[in-house]
Amino acid sequence: MSFFKRFRKQPEPVEPETPVAPVVTSKAKGFVPPPPRPTPPASADPKVASLEQRRQSIENAIELVQRSADSDSPFQQRIAILNTTLDSIEAEIRAATSFERRELPGLPSTPIGDISVTLDPVPDVRFSIGSMPFEYAEEIDWAERGTQIVRGDLLPVTVDIEPLIPESISGAIRAELTAHLDRSLFSFATDLRDRAIEGREQPTGVTLADLAKACTRCGDWELWGGVCLRCLAHETRLRELNEERTRLLDDRSSELEERQKQVEELPIQRRRLAETNAELQKLRA
Ligand SMILES: [Zn+2]
Repeated sequence: MSFFKRFRKQPEPVEPETPVAPVVTSKAKGFVPPPPRPTPPASADPKVASLEQRRQSIENAIELVQRSADSDSPFQQRIAILNTTLDSIEAEIRAATSFERRELPGLPSTPIGDISVTLDPVPDVRFSIGSMPFEYAEEIDWAERGTQIVRGDLLPVTVDIEPLIPESISGAIRAELTAHLDRSLFSFATDLRDRAIEGREQPTGVTLADLAKACTRCGDWELWGGVCLRCLAHETRLRELNEERTRLLDDRSSELEERQKQVEELPIQRRRLAETNAELQKLRA
């Protein structure tokens, strides 16, 4: 009680009865109110009782703000958790930013030719790699015929990838290159189909090597059309990490602003306390 005496001022015009506590109650998650103080015996006079109750709630509010500077206060603990999480996200961003360049074997410059695309009844794409024939086609979707054109995915009809990969490439890299070539051939066939539909010229002078070019940035194989899936995944990861970092920074700003607001309201709270005490004194005189 005496702690607050120094905040007493000359009585000022009394404000109408307004709920005081919600003004300083933290809206932040994890808010733990201080334990209730022992309440003095309720006064018989309802006016005195109401003022005593008011004084109690202002004192609690002031104490809560003053406590927020302590390292074990809920506010400081939330800030500490946010800081730790931010540090680890930033470490992840640093680790993800420098990403290792891969050195991978390429494919031989076997010519790709005999490109032929028919569109009726559904797109059918054929080409040869060396002497091997390849074919992709869309399924005939009878339900859609005559009503609306729905472009589906091409499906492999004649596709044999294994013989395209030199014997010198083996093990895990061979399996990885097989999977890459499967996707890159699909991109190539889809590009041929789209060019035919849009009346554009088909590519010339293409070789097998063009289906597994090294990405200039990371060294991984690019799909036909220049897309590097590794760079794409990496960019997505970095974007997600940066979004998480922004979210954490926003949370921390909100916490700090909320507390700043409460600290700025301290003089008002102290004035309210002084007014309440002065009123109580007057009633008791
Ligand atoms: Zn790349």
